[in-house]
Amino acid sequence: MASTKTAAAESPLDDPRSRRARVSDLEVVRHHFDWAWDHLALPDDIRQVFWEPYREVSVQIPVKLSDGKTHVYQGYRIQHNGARGPYKGGIRFHQEVDIDEVRALASMMTWKTAVAGVPFGGAKGGVNVRVEDLQKSDLQKIARSFMDKVEKVLGPTRDIPAPDVNTNAQVMAWMMDEYGKLHGHTPAIVTGKPIALEGSYGREAATGRGCVFMYREAAAKIGLSPSETTFSVQGYGNVGSWAARIMQDLGAKMVAASDAWGAIRNDDGIDANELHRHITVEGGKLSEFPGAEAISAGDLFEVPCDVFFPAALGGMIHEDNADLMKVKMVVEGANNPTSFKADEIFESKGIVVIPDLMANAGGVTCSYFEWVQNLQHFRWEEREVNDKLGKVMRKAYRDCAERAEAEKLSLRKGAFLVAIERVIEASRTRGYIE
Ligand code: NAD
Repeated sequence: MASTKTAAAESPLDDPRSRRARVSDLEVVRHHFDWAWDHLALPDDIRQVFWEPYREVSVQIPVKLSDGKTHVYQGYRIQHNGARGPYKGGIRFHQEVDIDEVRALASMMTWKTAVAGVPFGGAKGGVNVRVEDLQKSDLQKIARSFMDKVEKVLGPTRDIPAPDVNTNAQVMAWMMDEYGKLHGHTPAIVTGKPIALEGSYGREAATGRGCVFMYREAAAKIGLSPSETTFSVQGYGNVGSWAARIMQDLGAKMVAASDAWGAIRNDDGIDANELHRHITVEGGKLSEFPGAEAISAGDLFEVPCDVFFPAALGGMIHEDNADLMKVKMVVEGANNPTSFKADEIFESKGIVVIPDLMANAGGVTCSYFEWVQNLQHFRWEEREVNDKLGKVMRKAYRDCAERAEAEKLSLRKGAFLVAIERVIEASRTRGYIE
């Protein structure tokens, strides 16, 4: 299996293909936002209301961990815009979390909830912690302490967190429990909870499933059937592995995958379910999955396939790797994975990009379903959840694609226009702005 390895690239950080973009997530989001604002010829004096977050909470989290030492982490909860409903967005635990990244992710949530048409605003949270270094008990302490520090700005009708990178249903359960100590049992305070604690059927898979709904809409337009589709996944975590498993159920073939520690390739196909089992049940490394060749993180970009799912972090696709990608479609499971230079490269090559604010909106949509179920203390069957998710995703695709086609724009541009118009309309109707 031929691949062009970059000379002397000994670690992923030395390989220009696998570094993160030089522009920050915040610059990328603001670039798209400014383009849409100017295109809509909206007044300049209110731009700042939507450019910057409404409220930023930054907290110190000192925690004594199992190594006997006190570690001090920095945590953030940033509420970008609440015109369309309570703030909504995940909480990320990652060593590279900083305030600008959380600002970017919070504003993306405002635009994403608007595109999906779910009645929420946008927020995001994060803690700058390296989870690989932690015992489970340490993770629990950090999750509870974070909730203690930010609970004053949260609430089931104010701001409702959810999982993101390195946080999951278990972390949500600890946070819900901590909030409940102060306010009484409040399942609607977080979404993405375990099924045993009023989580929703279908929520864990929802973001990946939503990506696949979007792929199906776009694939039909370019005459690509699932059974003839090959795909690669960057970031075989929650979003990436669910997208892969659901794609495989449709008959598509995964030819490459990666995580933070390595990448693999097999042109004859990598079994998505077996890879998931290998990692989560057997505790194996992705790079040691039998039946696939280990490749470098940079090589992943050069594996030819029809669809590439970035499902890791922001800034992974940029001018040093976009040109190498031999794909027909990019479905952005991750938030902000594509720099605007990479976007231009894709546009010039006619590669269809389903942008994050459309592609990964399945997570917050199902979070909305979970919140609705929690408020009613009533549970829907998984089939009902998935059917409703499909309806919302298909409508979001239609709304953005129609807008993009009408003005001969990319889907990302169409989606930003739809989102900003919806948020502006809500803001005007409320009387936030004239
Ligand atoms: P996760 O922690 O479950 O998975 C992240 C995966 O990315 C892991 O496999 C990790 O090893 C891998 N990864 C990290 N750094 C990498 C690198 N440099 N190269 C390759 N792989 C790398 O997180 P997740 O919840 O699946 O989130 C993934 C992305 O999807 C994030 O951008 C997140 O913001 C976005 N997202 C998640 C949800 C959700 O519901 N979980 C919803 C919308 C968007």
